Amino acid sequence: MIQKQIIELPVTQKIDIRKLDLSEIEEWVKGQGQPKFRASQIYAWLWEKSATDFESMTNLSKEFRELLDSHFEILPIRIDAVQKSSDGTIKTRFVLHDGNKIESVLIPVPDDNRFTVCVSTQVGCSLSCKFCATGMMKRMRNLSSAEIVDQVVLVNKQSMDHFGHPITNIVYMGMGEPLLNYQATVTSIFHITSPKGLGMSPKRITISTAGIAKMIKKLADDGLKCNLALSLHAADDAKRDEIMPINEQNNLESLMEALQYFYKQTKNRISFEYVALHGVNLSMLDAKNLAKHCRKFPVKVNIIEYNAVEGLPFGRAAMEETDAFGLALRNLDVTVTIRRSRGKDIDAACGQLANKD
Ligand code: SAH
Repeated sequence: MIQKQIIELPVTQKIDIRKLDLSEIEEWVKGQGQPKFRASQIYAWLWEKSATDFESMTNLSKEFRELLDSHFEILPIRIDAVQKSSDGTIKTRFVLHDGNKIESVLIPVPDDNRFTVCVSTQVGCSLSCKFCATGMMKRMRNLSSAEIVDQVVLVNKQSMDHFGHPITNIVYMGMGEPLLNYQATVTSIFHITSPKGLGMSPKRITISTAGIAKMIKKLADDGLKCNLALSLHAADDAKRDEIMPINEQNNLESLMEALQYFYKQTKNRISFEYVALHGVNLSMLDAKNLAKHCRKFPVKVNIIEYNAVEGLPFGRAAMEETDAFGLALRNLDVTVTIRRSRGKDIDAACGQLANKD
């Protein structure tokens, strides 16, 4: 009997076109014998008009669209579930092309004309801050820059649908640590702010980090134009080591030195996030220690309410405890705002994003 030979055809892997920059698309277009401006047309479809397939790129010929489709793929994120809070906050869970899930939150403040989207940068997180729900998940993978931009585009649509207003602010405060997904974070900001992309002002974007000194300096060297928030939460190393293990390699001295450098190079706005943990970080000594860090560069402190996470041994501070701490800081000449939490009833508040149903 003649055995049939099984010939394994090489599976040609399509390229994720949103991983290419304009010059790389130009290069490919040229190779196909097409005029260079075709690349700009494709680029505009991808980054200005947020196209999710080649079919819809109607100023390109059908043949050329088919050619694109045979070489490339676009891997958009898709809405998986939407939850609305009684306070107007909307949490959306997205499913990624590989089945992983992430969450974004739309926080509307119509009275101020402020519509903020909180975006994720990783599936899960590797930092295990002791008070955070995302920290209890494993880090599965980094998001691509396109997957970060997609969150902004889709939540912007939601904001238009629900409030008749586009989003005005973006905070990188969802799942994950942006500075441990540095390139995708910076590239996503490039597309969000570029006139050839979404054209938003970098002044309306804030990156929040648990504190990686080396990468804060890199942001400065790379000329970032956005605001930067450091999740401080404790004002001395012993305490911070305990609740944020990342502090062991990035102590407060190194972080403050990095922020000083960041301020000197960029003059961008810096803030400290400080979660009010009952009985942990709100003593008068904590206020004094915190005030010392506020004298090194212009900085605003945002005290945020703690959102209790099931299974974690931290409790929300009473309003009086938080207010007393805020007052102590003010008396030490620190600029402070106390932020009330949003979206608690749907686990959409800070540190509650964990892909729960
Ligand atoms: N990894 C980045 C961004 C994500 S967390 C960072 O650490 O900054 C966004 C903010 O929510 C951080 O300040 C984080 O410390 C805070 N946070 C985490 N868990 C929280 C909780 N349960 N309640 C309130 N804030 C929380």
